[in-house]
Amino acid sequence: MICLRCGYCCVAYDVTILKDFSKEPSESNSINKQNSKACPHLIRDPDDKLRTLCTQHDKKYFEDSPCDRHSQIERRNTNCRTGDCVLNNNKNFGCDPHLSKFLLKKIKTALDRSG
Ligand code: SF4
Ligand code: SF4
Repeated sequence: MICLRCGYCCVAYDVTILKDFSKEPSESNSINKQNSKACPHLIRDPDDKLRTLCTQHDKKYFEDSPCDRHSQIERRNTNCRTGDCVLNNNKNFGCDPHLSKFLLKKIKTALDRSG
């Protein structure tokens, strides 16, 4: 699956993440992120306001994290359908435009709240 960086996963899921992925995993270096809250490592892509970036992707322990393992079981490597829905009204798959707007708003609200 090709992640389109819509940010939905980094808002919608409960996930345990490291505060700092350059430091060793430990209880004091971890956060239990709750669903509907933006991950503190999630930022808007300054070059594309609809897309998001993870500030930790290049850090040492990221490859061992649940975030890195997150994927979708498919025979082919295709664009993420949820991301396509959020970013493009999922024109290829007939995503309901109301659902697209709802998901975009959920991401925006969570990012706005996180400052
Ligand atoms: S660490 Fe990065 S990939 Fe994982 S939830 Fe946070 S922003 Fe998303
Ligand atoms: S919903 Fe898809 S495109 Fe959006 S962040 Fe998750 S994997 Fe990436």
